[in-house]
Amino acid sequence: MLVESTSKIRIKASIFGVVQGVGFRPFAYKLAKRYNLKGFIFNHSGGVELEVEGDKSSVFEFFIKLEAELPPLAKIENITKEQCPLKNYKDFEIIASVKSSTNTSIPADISICADCLAEMRDIKNRRYNYPFINCTNCGVRYSIINSLPYDRDKTSMKDFTMCKRCYDEYTNPNDRRYHAQPISCFDCGPKLSVLYKDATKEYDNVIDKIVLKIKEGACVAIKGVGGFHLVCDATNDVAIKKLRDAKQRATKPFAVMFDSLTAIKKVVDITDKESSLLLSLERPIVLADKKQTQSISFLVAPNIEKLGVFLPYTPIHILLLERLKSPIIATSANQSSEPIIKDEKEILQKLPFVDAILTYDRDIVHICDDSVVGVVDDREVFYRVARGYTPMSFYINSTKKILALGANQKSTITLAFDNTVVISPYIGDLNSISSVEYFVKVIDDFMNFYNFVPDIVVCDKHPNYESTLWAKEYKKKHNTVELIELQHHYAHSLSVMAEYNLFEKVLSFCFDGTGYGDDGVLWGCEVLLTSVDSYERVYHLKEFSLLGGEKAIKEPYRVALSLLFDIYSKDEILSMKNVVVEKFSKKEIETFYMMHTKGLNSPKTTSLGRMFDAIYAFMGEDSYINYEGESGLVLESYAKCCVLDEVYTFSIGKDGVISFDEMICEILKETDKTIIASKFINTIADMIVKISKQNKELPVILCGGVFQNLTLLKKVIQLFKNENIKYFIQQKTALNDGSISLGQAYYAINLQRNKNG
Ligand SMILES: [Zn+2]
Ligand SMILES: [Zn+2]
Repeated sequence: MLVESTSKIRIKASIFGVVQGVGFRPFAYKLAKRYNLKGFIFNHSGGVELEVEGDKSSVFEFFIKLEAELPPLAKIENITKEQCPLKNYKDFEIIASVKSSTNTSIPADISICADCLAEMRDIKNRRYNYPFINCTNCGVRYSIINSLPYDRDKTSMKDFTMCKRCYDEYTNPNDRRYHAQPISCFDCGPKLSVLYKDATKEYDNVIDKIVLKIKEGACVAIKGVGGFHLVCDATNDVAIKKLRDAKQRATKPFAVMFDSLTAIKKVVDITDKESSLLLSLERPIVLADKKQTQSISFLVAPNIEKLGVFLPYTPIHILLLERLKSPIIATSANQSSEPIIKDEKEILQKLPFVDAILTYDRDIVHICDDSVVGVVDDREVFYRVARGYTPMSFYINSTKKILALGANQKSTITLAFDNTVVISPYIGDLNSISSVEYFVKVIDDFMNFYNFVPDIVVCDKHPNYESTLWAKEYKKKHNTVELIELQHHYAHSLSVMAEYNLFEKVLSFCFDGTGYGDDGVLWGCEVLLTSVDSYERVYHLKEFSLLGGEKAIKEPYRVALSLLFDIYSKDEILSMKNVVVEKFSKKEIETFYMMHTKGLNSPKTTSLGRMFDAIYAFMGEDSYINYEGESGLVLESYAKCCVLDEVYTFSIGKDGVISFDEMICEILKETDKTIIASKFINTIADMIVKISKQNKELPVILCGGVFQNLTLLKKVIQLFKNENIKYFIQQKTALNDGSISLGQAYYAINLQRNKNG
């Protein structure tokens, strides 16, 4: 038996999480030196392996500080420790990586850190105004990685040979650029240039030239982290009008980048939580409430009270805005429903209205959009999870290799293997050939990263989703793979359960645009009794028709008319005087009535998203929905002007069917838009709370795109607090279809767990 000194111990630790490419090893190295501990650390397939030997209390302190003082980008998901016999190591060393790529998290792209910013502004520093300054704690990651493990020769920095000074920093464990893979300087790094329409390029005074263009009212493209932005002066009506016309984007709001938090605060109201998100290393676009101000153009986000604002996150953006001193529209450069563009040639081809392009000679390997977040009750609500946050990985107990493919809108994929879940960045809507191609590329890339061949593939039940078609094709080619088709709203609920690692039964309010229901109906206002292995649909909205199918999504008056058909006779409707009926000729109403009664091209739905559209129509708003979610945002704006607690009448039948018929009749008598919007949102909240109270023993989940309506969500949370109802909403993943793939993966993980007992 080994007898050891009681004062000296040796601990072996396996650490899992975001611990590679984020300065974890030099951090542990310095910490070990601080406590005079010996041993070693190295990266390996499962994360980081570490051994420390020394005074017992020092070892104890070391592990406390290891978790408490983590580098900003590092995250420990799981740590296992084991005490071993003493080895009397002589020193503490960083050992070269074991070259295996599986189960290593891919670090996300992170905004410039305070240290680099200070150096960039220091005229005596050799990287003064250097547009690609970065360190171990900041800069590009995912967007430049070709393969794992994350080393420079596997990134698009491989073509840039480090100069002597950069190399010295890169190889010194005490330097803050130790193993910063994209390390570079004016002597050895990428170069900025301006590319003009005639394909000529200029390399001098690039930033000044672009600043001048923007000031002149031009629309320019700027190469950022995960793709190009289209940029113009956010105070220039003419420039914005030109951009809107060119992009055929009538009203969909643009995000605005400001040079400082002070500048942002002049345009929107910002809470402390919103400030901290704006300044965070992830630097998302934050949706905030507009102030009554004229300092930016009305055309940036017409008819709505929210504005997406963000701060510069790369040295290039900072240098640009410092000189411009005026906010800019910065929107993903793409053609409608196509992925963000990452190559300058494509900008020239596809976006001919762009006057000049600010670019550089390092390739973007993976595209990644800006992340979008709102805040409710001091918590994040994600609309889009991309740059800064993804690829997102976390620890979850799983054994099989699972590939989950998400839905069709706001697509993402999720991989599960070796106790890890990895969620891809936002891919987008799979509505164009190029977006489907990109979706397939992401699947290939992630399978290659991890040497991954799935045992199980999970897709949505919708037979025509591109993701479903891919899954079925894959199954055809790989017979042994298990294919699971999962109901859309159940997957919504499971995505929340996955975030909180829930197993217990929950009552899930799954409210969204549409998802394929078990009965073939387009569901969208479902209350499900969910557990990890099954669900039961306990309440849902009364079915109504989408007159003309897809067309009804763009033309909300059709939905409103069908709701009237469900309540009134044709003659009653023809004699009515209201904004909906007046939109149609007598003949049109008769044709639609025939379609409605015979069920011709009028699919049934229970979608709450479409109900929002119908209310928007009853309020007499625009004839068309220009972008998804527009009706909800406009309703929010009206509701904001009206502080009202009243609700409309609705009923919940014994069969669990929720009917808004009486509400529609009441709305027809109301002319004040602010009252309609406010009472409608109150009614949804009231319905949720009533049902929750009827099932008080169950915790509640709120999920699906409808809850992106922050006014509604805020209201529900307030009522839940008053009633002491326990609830869960997503905090890390998107509230919309962006998290469907996570829910799908969680189902398969638990299926395996249960099979294994
Ligand atoms: Zn830095
Ligand atoms: Zn250099």
